[in-house]
Amino acid sequence: MTAVQNELGHRIARMVRAQGPLSVAQFMTIALHDAQSGYYATRDPIGSDFITAPEMTQIFGELIGLWCVQVWRDQGCPERARLVELGPGRGTLMDDALRAARVVPEFLKAIDIVMVEASPVLAAEQSARLKSCGVPVRWIGDLSHVAYDRPSFIIANEFLDALPVQQFVMTEHGWRERVVTADTDNTLAFASAPVPPAFRVPPERGDAQSGAVYEVSPAAMALVDDIARGVASAGGAALFIDYGHEGQEFGDTLQAISRHRFADVLASPGSVDLTCHVDFGAIARAARTAGAQVLGPVGQGAFLQALGIEARLSGLCPHGDMDIAAVHRLTDSGEMGTLFKALAILPQGAPNPPGFARGTSRC
Ligand code: SAH
Repeated sequence: MTAVQNELGHRIARMVRAQGPLSVAQFMTIALHDAQSGYYATRDPIGSDFITAPEMTQIFGELIGLWCVQVWRDQGCPERARLVELGPGRGTLMDDALRAARVVPEFLKAIDIVMVEASPVLAAEQSARLKSCGVPVRWIGDLSHVAYDRPSFIIANEFLDALPVQQFVMTEHGWRERVVTADTDNTLAFASAPVPPAFRVPPERGDAQSGAVYEVSPAAMALVDDIARGVASAGGAALFIDYGHEGQEFGDTLQAISRHRFADVLASPGSVDLTCHVDFGAIARAARTAGAQVLGPVGQGAFLQALGIEARLSGLCPHGDMDIAAVHRLTDSGEMGTLFKALAILPQGAPNPPGFARGTSRC
């Protein structure tokens, strides 16, 4: 039982008492996106609560921009193509990617840009950042509004980890759903409830021990299915970079972060970031089932090394201690080099993109 500490917490507790428990996914959705008090709806958290790769060094976005250019070339330099970013934060990655892509003006001439952003605060920052980028840019709140009428190059850094998950717990009575319940208007707690009729345990989770937790993000599965179908039929590629695992292990990975520290998941909804480790195994399966080719996941360190991060650091003039420290942090296996992973989705038969050597499909 956790005493709630803010207005949204009280509002959720009242809602639960009136209407019944929320799934973890419903709780996450309200905490992150409630129009009045949701975490992303009301602030720019990057820097104050957590830091992301593009904010550490410009090299990260530049390498991703060059990755897109190379994959576009590998697919015959289509004259009309689309560059899509999911959850673009402050717009830094896109800004750095476009600057690097200037070495190939035909690429910039071919593309329009779609920024998929739920947060009005961050969309405004992105728009200011890209106002003179020279390429048509539009903003949408939901990827399902993008038509795959041309090859689309989709990039997403630390986006999947923000999508809501459902959690299921193995008990002595079988699988139960983990839900959020309330005792009074001042408290929230986790409890277990019968699983919904549509719930299916994936075969690899069949021998789960009591206490095991299985997480699934229906939002991520639907998004990847959509992207994989779009890329398989119209060409292009998707590149997901995030922290996560390949789905072999069980566990509750839901975490709250505030001011660079772990925080309580239930106490202050809307005031803390909520994320989960990405199940790259499930992402890969969903994309393959939808008919696309999947490469990776590979560790972020190996991926960025293969893209030439060290050479780019030496070539960056002037590069400061910040860039050196950032390259170490992004690539070192004790830091973000292994926990963070890159996964690419391509049409069947497309050449291997940079960073995903043939035969190295695992971390
Ligand atoms: N990619 C950026 C920001 C990562 S933070 C970077 O690397 O710096 C997560 C981003 O995803 C934010 O921009 C957030 O507003 C956005 N976001 C979270 N959930 C979303 C959703 N359901 N739809 C669209 N954008 C979302």
